Amino acid sequence: MSAGRLGPFFEERHEALAARAEEAAGKLDGEEDPRRIVEKLAAAGLLAHCVPSEFAHGNGNGNGSIDVRDLCVIRRALGYRSSLADTMFAMQGLGSFPVTLAGSEDQRRALLPRVARGEAICAFAITEPEAGSDVSAVATRARRGGDHYLLDGEKTFISNAGIADSYVVFARTSDDRHRGLTAFLVDGAAPGLTTTPIELIAPHPIGRLMLQDCPGERIGDEGDGFRIAMATLDRFRTSVGAAAAGMAARALDEAIARVKVRRQFGKPLAEQQATQLALAEMALDLEAADLLVAKAAWLGDRGDKVTRAAAMAKLHATEAAQRVIDRALQLHGGLGVVRGTVVERLYREVRALRIYEGTSEIQKLVIARDLLR
Ligand SMILES: Cc1cc2nc3c(=O)[nH]c(=O)nc-3n(C[C@H](O)[C@H](O)[C@H](O)COP(=O)(O)OP(=O)(O)OC[C@H]3O[C@@H](n4cnc5c(N)ncnc54)[C@H](O)[C@@H]3O)c2cc1C
Repeated sequence: MSAGRLGPFFEERHEALAARAEEAAGKLDGEEDPRRIVEKLAAAGLLAHCVPSEFAHGNGNGNGSIDVRDLCVIRRALGYRSSLADTMFAMQGLGSFPVTLAGSEDQRRALLPRVARGEAICAFAITEPEAGSDVSAVATRARRGGDHYLLDGEKTFISNAGIADSYVVFARTSDDRHRGLTAFLVDGAAPGLTTTPIELIAPHPIGRLMLQDCPGERIGDEGDGFRIAMATLDRFRTSVGAAAAGMAARALDEAIARVKVRRQFGKPLAEQQATQLALAEMALDLEAADLLVAKAAWLGDRGDKVTRAAAMAKLHATEAAQRVIDRALQLHGGLGVVRGTVVERLYREVRALRIYEGTSEIQKLVIARDLLR
């Protein structure tokens, strides 16, 4: 453990990684092309942290998994600068972790080094028009077709739809609500896969997938899909909180800079006590978010069950980030709603974090279920 800048839940290597991630994030400012972003994240060595180290460095001495605190440190730095870069980073992890977790050795060797080098863009497809919060309602079907499976169905709100080289698609191999789900690898160029984009309020490559007799390779066993999906989300949920904290930290910095220079009623806004109270509350919200994220990440890396801690970290950090960014915008007055200001951008970009990887309401249900067990 270190008593460095990141606090006691982190080790010295995380401090070094944070500095490296911040430097790389600074160079991504203004970059809007998702593939270029992925290339730059790979060149900075950040994507190596999305896969077990034996697939990123070829040294074969890793522990076979990925470090949640690494993900958090990187996502906080990226969130501070560019939510698009954060999305591209997160999807490389989320869209390949089912293979890390349950893939065959051949699948791992074929995909994971390309993920780390930024050569394969990944996607993770569960959500369907009639299966959002209720993952067990997935209706996409998979049937055996020779040495692989053929998938039929529709997915929606899939990040990287249309630009991904590799999709993990969850489909039904039997009618059992949970045990009937199986995970598949679908190539981005597979016949029978078509995509249509969806435009959001913030930059984020996302769209629908239509699967018609689309070939897929099974990941793990039939019936393992629900477990693989939940284990993947458990691993990554805490890092959504870290990205939110990064965005909130940026908003707080922007607000502090603005109130020091903006003068009204004969003095800077910073000298009005109401402004000071707002800043104190924003800083407190952010500090609590960082601490919940750090604790959940540390528990995850220790190998503890983190369902409740990760849900708390994601819930609090994303809700707190929304509050902090809203207050930062308010402190900017009219300037805060002018297109192109940082707080205006953050205000649009933070919104989706309370929805994806389980809405805030679903996080509360997860926490309550754990309390009542
Ligand atoms: C930017 C973005 C990126 C995404 N990327 C991906 C991706 O890469 N892959 C993927 O598979 N999915 C992705 N999603 C989909 C996302 O996971 C779903 O949007 C989310 O799970 C919610 O599902 P829904 O939109 O169908 O909302 P619904 O489930 O219809 O929920 C609507 C509202 O009802 C509430 N609600 C639902 N059930 C309950 C309940 N039991 N009790 C109380 N309230 C409830 C919800 O909290 C929400 O407020 C993405 C979404 C967004 C916005």
